[in-house]
Amino acid sequence: MPLIGKILAATGVVLGSVFIFLKSSVTVQEDPNFIVKKEILSGSTFSIIASQAGVATGTAEAIFSSSKGVYDLSNIREGKELVFVFDKNTNDLKELDYDINTEEELVVKNTSTSTEEWLAEKKPIEYQVEVSTAEGIIESSLYETIVGQGLDNRLAIALAEAFAWQIDFVGDIQKGDSFKVIYEKRYLNGGYVMPGKILAAKFNNAGQQYLGYYFKTSDDKDGYYDENGKSLQKVFLKSPLQYKYISSGFTYKRLDPVTETYYHAHRAVDLVANYGTPVVAIGDGTVTQAGWNGQYGISVTIRYNDMYTSVYGHFEGLAKGIKRGTTVKQGQVVGYVGSTGNSTGPHLHYEIHKFGTFVNPFTIEVPDGKPIADKDKSAFDEVKKQYNI
Ligand SMILES: [Zn+2]
Repeated sequence: MPLIGKILAATGVVLGSVFIFLKSSVTVQEDPNFIVKKEILSGSTFSIIASQAGVATGTAEAIFSSSKGVYDLSNIREGKELVFVFDKNTNDLKELDYDINTEEELVVKNTSTSTEEWLAEKKPIEYQVEVSTAEGIIESSLYETIVGQGLDNRLAIALAEAFAWQIDFVGDIQKGDSFKVIYEKRYLNGGYVMPGKILAAKFNNAGQQYLGYYFKTSDDKDGYYDENGKSLQKVFLKSPLQYKYISSGFTYKRLDPVTETYYHAHRAVDLVANYGTPVVAIGDGTVTQAGWNGQYGISVTIRYNDMYTSVYGHFEGLAKGIKRGTTVKQGQVVGYVGSTGNSTGPHLHYEIHKFGTFVNPFTIEVPDGKPIADKDKSAFDEVKKQYNI
């Protein structure tokens, strides 16, 4: 944007006098910063990248230690970017930015001009948002219909996520099914980044119509609701068993208790319980695997919907009738705690996969499943009116 454009945008209202004042007092100011962006390559570390960006070792160390409590920079991921902001005049580093995920960024700022004092904060990423509409008729799959229109494939995932408890997007989709979706498109610095929230959607599946509206309650809980204010999401049980304690949490790398060496990531939680403790399905679903499963020992895999699958490992035995293809109800016992497979003592190895990716069972955000409360009804009606789909 040319300088004059910036001024007009900044003042908002174009007043002759203000404009003249700015014109006479603002000399063309260059950006006081220069920015170095570094992609994180395989095998690289924060200190290597910082050094490549021209950051002094002491500064990199100070940033690393002061951000540790907020975000551990040893967890930076390959393929992402570290952004270093330098002062153009002094060449000193002023700020480091890193997008932790699609919603939050780490911002580390120098709080003193003379010393290495750094303040680390997690901040929501401030996207510019544009509301957009898409619709289509399905030939073979939702994914193909969306990609075929030149739309972002992540929109198909978001739509499947919103209706995951109503529609099986793998098994139930028929030719001629149709959808309409009102959603946010996210931009950063004018460039398109990704689809944001789905605000409202309509899906016709096998002659049945499903409606969904995004709504944030006055208690700050958000989720999708149908036209009657019923939650589209069902609730998982908090835990599949009564356990004593967590012996291994969800990590990307850990010390293996059997081999006593650093081993693969433990993208699951281990819940210690007595032999024979019953383990239940956390939701209604279908058993997709039951029985001996290598290192997992005797395990059971349950598919809840397109989005969520859980794997239970090290069972002593399966519950009666549990086999591949069995339909299970939430709370139904599927097996009993044991120590089969790669295990040192009785515990449940508990994994949840979301669209095939391992997620931490204790931190996944699952909505509470409650309908719209009376106090929120009028606000919800406004949302329905606004996105009259
Ligand atoms: Zn485990």
